[in-house]
Amino acid sequence: MKKSDRKRYRKKIIESTLDSISVRQKSPIYVFILLLVLYLTGTFLVSLSAGLQGSVQLFGHLIPINAFAGVFSALANICVILMTLWCGRLGYVSALTLLVAQLPGILIGVIRGNNIRSLPGIFSNLLAMIAITVVYLNNKKVEQAYISLRDRAVKDDLTGLPNRFACSTLLKNLISRDKEFALVWIDINNFNSINDSMGYENGNLVLREIASRWEAITNSDITETTDFIARIGGDEFALVICDYSSEEDILKTISRYEEMLGERLTVDSCDFYLTGSFGYAKYPEDGKTNDKLGSCANAAMQEVKRINSSSRILRFAPDMANDAKNLETERLLRAAIENDNIFFHLQPQFDFSHKLRGFEALARMKDPDGNMVSPGIFIPVAEKVGLIDLVDAIVFRKSALFFGKLIKEYNIDITLSVNVSVRHLMKNGFLDEIKDIIKASDVAPEQIEVEITESIMIDSVDKAVQVIDELKKLGIKIAIDDFGTGYSSLSYLNRFPANLLKIDKSFVDKMNLSDSSKQYVAAIVSIGHIMGFDVIAEGVEEQEQLDTLKTVGCDFVQGYIWGRPLPEEEARKVAAEKAV
Ligand code: C2E
Ligand code: CA
Ligand code: CA
Repeated sequence: MKKSDRKRYRKKIIESTLDSISVRQKSPIYVFILLLVLYLTGTFLVSLSAGLQGSVQLFGHLIPINAFAGVFSALANICVILMTLWCGRLGYVSALTLLVAQLPGILIGVIRGNNIRSLPGIFSNLLAMIAITVVYLNNKKVEQAYISLRDRAVKDDLTGLPNRFACSTLLKNLISRDKEFALVWIDINNFNSINDSMGYENGNLVLREIASRWEAITNSDITETTDFIARIGGDEFALVICDYSSEEDILKTISRYEEMLGERLTVDSCDFYLTGSFGYAKYPEDGKTNDKLGSCANAAMQEVKRINSSSRILRFAPDMANDAKNLETERLLRAAIENDNIFFHLQPQFDFSHKLRGFEALARMKDPDGNMVSPGIFIPVAEKVGLIDLVDAIVFRKSALFFGKLIKEYNIDITLSVNVSVRHLMKNGFLDEIKDIIKASDVAPEQIEVEITESIMIDSVDKAVQVIDELKKLGIKIAIDDFGTGYSSLSYLNRFPANLLKIDKSFVDKMNLSDSSKQYVAAIVSIGHIMGFDVIAEGVEEQEQLDTLKTVGCDFVQGYIWGRPLPEEEARKVAAEKAV
């Protein structure tokens, strides 16, 4: 496509987008053609009927045929008025031309034939011209009002660029035509510091300047592609790029916008050199809806900020979505820690006579709207960003305080199991923290069990063993969690001063599907017993699983079959009932 064609095309597509948003839409061309045909037929019938002698019988009266000329003329005039009303400038110009073109004919008729009876025809013609001019001018005023309304709905007040709504309408439009495009999400780097140091007014000036520079690119032929720039809000902009033939074209276009942003900008006698973060996603490869493309482009933009490299342009890649999600989870997690929205549920553990062994404390978290976030989501993030020791400590402290009161209230000898991540375990001060919690909650160390996952122990066995020895010295029990998933060798296991092996749910799940799986679980139980450990199976959901576990000599069960993780009050009820 030639550049000029491209720009024309761009104008067309953007205009059609704006028109689709417009409250008032022009009539299609066929309405104009229909009215034109009706008008021409009407005027033809006027001259035909005016020239005919004779009469027709209508409702029992004889009416001269030439009397119908007036009716046809009135109909023709209605056509030109409707044409002006519905078909804008084209309608008005055509209507006026038709009426003016008719005038000489009528005048000649009057003069040549000395036919005074045709004079009203001239007046009617002139009146029709006045009528359509009034209609047209009035219409134009209304249209201008509509346009200004539409502009206010689709334009950003501060910069005059199309706004978020216009941008999303354009995207929908392109998607409905199945037209390839790239959506670039742009964030101005460190814009807040401009606002903070120069004031809000100057910040606005900067945004206006950026917008006008970028709009100049969009309206020029500088780039090889067809572009559309919009302000999404704050210091965020969206650039839509169409008509590229390669990835390189897209990158070239984005670079033009980046260069333009980086040129010196002077506000209040201060020079700035701005930079931006540009993340983009392509339709249809990266997403097929507005929302998906927006979040992909945004994730790519966040990635540019995160890696902080010299390249400030990145295309979306699937792992960025995870990073973006993790960032959001991290934000929620920090807020939950700050607002005391981390708490615990207690899942009961029983022996096979259904006597309560104790509870496992499991972390729970609420987002600011009060919705629960699954530990399967926030625990891995907490581990990754180094917040797990805080989460562990909160859960441990809160559950121990509750547990202390519970065992006093019912005078029962049960165990509280807490999950401790390796990072927490290795932290300096971990033992002091535990001692402190034990003291504050008034729970005997013998009633506390620390669960450590098997895989983690393999990675850091020496240091872990030291800390675990210290815990044992205090009287605290040790459980090896998720046993069977970490491929630990028997020699590792032998070095661990554990009390309890927890068979991972995945083995319990498939235990009854084959004989070998059942034997595997039986073997774990035997090994545990040989090493002097008790064995508990977790994730037990069905009676059949319970039966098998009993047969192979498992000591305890934890699972939905006998109890889900429970909030404090429900755990209290279980303690009251089951502690026999
Ligand atoms: P986990 O320590 O293996 O905890 C057992 C998980 O299995 C819990 O999931 C529990 O709700 C679930 N579960 C128990 N019985 C059944 C059952 O019969 N069926 C099914 N489908 N699930 C069952 P939850 O609470 O979602 O915790 C997930 C994981 O998050 C835990 O696995 C643990 O690794 C981690 N976690 C939870 N709380 C903490 C904590 O305070 N600190 C640390 N470091 N990790 C924690
Ligand atoms: Ca556990
Ligand atoms: Ca487990």
